[in-house]
Amino acid sequence: MAHPDDAEILTAGTLFHLKRAGWELGILTMTSGDCGSATHSKEEISRIRHREAETAACFLGAWYGCAGLQDIEIFANAENTRRVVEMMRVFGPHVVITHSPVDYMLDHEETVRLVRAATFAIAIPLYQTRQPAPASAARATPALYYADPVEGIDPSGDRLWPQFYVDIDETLEQKREMLSQHRSQRDWLRAHHGVDEYLNRMTEWAARYGVECGANYAEGFRQHLGHGYPREPVLQDALDSFIKTRK
Ligand SMILES: [Zn+2]
Repeated sequence: MAHPDDAEILTAGTLFHLKRAGWELGILTMTSGDCGSATHSKEEISRIRHREAETAACFLGAWYGCAGLQDIEIFANAENTRRVVEMMRVFGPHVVITHSPVDYMLDHEETVRLVRAATFAIAIPLYQTRQPAPASAARATPALYYADPVEGIDPSGDRLWPQFYVDIDETLEQKREMLSQHRSQRDWLRAHHGVDEYLNRMTEWAARYGVECGANYAEGFRQHLGHGYPREPVLQDALDSFIKTRK
């Protein structure tokens, strides 16, 4: 994902289901959220948010890595692709979940372009990341999934319908707890709005997607089914009893 807290807001309910099913999980963010403050310096907020992302990943029981890019300057160029491929090769995922290709901000869309390129390149041995001690190429291309865009809408405000939903009624409390580890963001929004906007809005969105599929709370996903990527419904099969479709 692009920033610390994106994985929590868009996918954490699903991640807790996968954790419970015995999956090993990793969260990789492109930046450490260096623009996410009105009071701290760039360096301070980067350190704070990196720690918060680690704490949140730890609460989930996941590995955390940051590609070291900067907010507003995530671009799918050669250097950034090499960085992301290297980190993904170290973790070696079978399934990758990233943002929606169409989303409210370009950092998210460029992250998709980077992750799509990296997911393809991770298993190509001749693609070299030019790191001092590079990890070996993966054995296979991971299955690639897109989360719902933020608020579920494209830049014109239209709903971008997911292919399937995951019912997160059972994991919503853990999702809220994981998101609340991002204290700097929660406090900032709370000071700004006077209410717990951070957790409330995430919960509202999950409830809205729930209404669409007959659950209390849900997260939406689409699978990348283009040439060269696995088409087996790996995530849908793993979460079988929680999968919902649009009513
Ligand atoms: Zn973001």
